Amino acid sequence: MRPLLLAALLILPAVGRCQEATPMTLAQRIEAVIAATEPLPFPRGDRLPIRAMGLEGVPSEDDAENQRLLRELDARGLALSARWDPADVEGSLAQALRLGRLQKQLGLDIGVDANACMHRFFNGDESTAHVNEAGEPFFDSSFGEQYKMGCPFALRDRYPVITAQFEPFLKAYRDAGLELAFIYLDWEIDGPVEWNGAWAASRACTRCREHLPGLEDFRAFQMALRTLRADMQREVYAAAVKAAFPNALIGNYAEYPGDGYRYWYDYFEVLPEGAPVKTDTRAQYREWPNLFSATGYTFAMPVVYTWYPTFGWYDFEDPDYRWFYNMLLVATNACKSTGGTVPIISWLHWHTTSPPPEPDPAVQQLSEEKYQELIWHMLLRGTDGLMNWCMDAETAKEIQLIQQVYAASLEYRDFLEGGTPIAFEVPTMPAPVVSALQLGERLLVRRTEFGGFEADVVLRRPGRPPVFVPAAPGECRIIEAR
Ligand SMILES: [Zn+2]
Repeated sequence: MRPLLLAALLILPAVGRCQEATPMTLAQRIEAVIAATEPLPFPRGDRLPIRAMGLEGVPSEDDAENQRLLRELDARGLALSARWDPADVEGSLAQALRLGRLQKQLGLDIGVDANACMHRFFNGDESTAHVNEAGEPFFDSSFGEQYKMGCPFALRDRYPVITAQFEPFLKAYRDAGLELAFIYLDWEIDGPVEWNGAWAASRACTRCREHLPGLEDFRAFQMALRTLRADMQREVYAAAVKAAFPNALIGNYAEYPGDGYRYWYDYFEVLPEGAPVKTDTRAQYREWPNLFSATGYTFAMPVVYTWYPTFGWYDFEDPDYRWFYNMLLVATNACKSTGGTVPIISWLHWHTTSPPPEPDPAVQQLSEEKYQELIWHMLLRGTDGLMNWCMDAETAKEIQLIQQVYAASLEYRDFLEGGTPIAFEVPTMPAPVVSALQLGERLLVRRTEFGGFEADVVLRRPGRPPVFVPAAPGECRIIEAR
């Protein structure tokens, strides 16, 4: 970090993570990020830029200033996304088009956060509610009192309404000749979701019982809801975007292929009693059907966060390995389960995520060093793009940690673009972690030390001689593997 700019960082509001003081403006966030990061030392080529929920919108009224900020961000491998808001089509569209035109002029990818357009299927209308024995409508409040979660089988009429919220934006971009490269949603607490009190609510609903004779079996319930959820994402969103922009990267938070399990919980998710799980010390990994292809999405979006409860799931003495192990499980699941032609753009968050109001002081923050090692392993296991969510005040630090690894990784762009990941092991005890990309007869290898083992790690390759990987803390190695 350049010392002169350190001062700029120190005047960021020092606020807690739960209660943020005055929100920063987008321009302030961008300046903080620019100050905390260095321009890329190697060309980015076709590697996807880093995106962040904190880097969305138009920073200035002055387009010369906007261009300057876009260039500064691009020099660092960072991209701005526009935000579409169906509650303010005129205003948000004008801003989005303005950003898109500037990006087109500068030869930058046009990206969009279209989350607001997807909300809400459960809009509170009684027609979307469950129905009890007495024929009265009722909602499931177990996701929070502000959410009127209703009947998964009462949403058909909402499909055209939701699609119509995307249409004016898609049409305007087409008419303006702005090619959409990337579009995502953060669609979570809406539509059919099987967690919390949803199963109990469906069992109390006459319409759900009619549609789902196997309702008493959680797996049948889950499969029905997940199938519906995938279908509606495809029908109302992915298909509409694809029709307008066939080459766009289209995705949603937490939608990605998997091996049948999910190794993390979102902040609002509670496991209902009776749902099947695979246990690992105190972790309860949920079964999770792989319906990614039914969503119609063109990129996978796993979520690799330091969720607060994770720390207490395992007994590893090394506090870093409690986080690292789980986050590597999550990332590896997505990498090994996603076909090579579908890009993986992963959410990342480093500061301990969603802590309670009074966190247990025993829960230690994941170290910066091991977090950055984790990002290296994600890249060497097939992650194509990185995306950050964080609280306002965390933005500069969060993006700095990601961007430093991203920038250094570009030295090996030939491996990242053309190599094949060949190591997906996640040691169940603290032990050296190895990831590798094979390109022809060469391997790009990263080994991260846990557990104090000094011996070479033997990397087995099907039908090929094994490769011996010595320790090389903090660096990648290229190994000739004839
Ligand atoms: Zn129902």
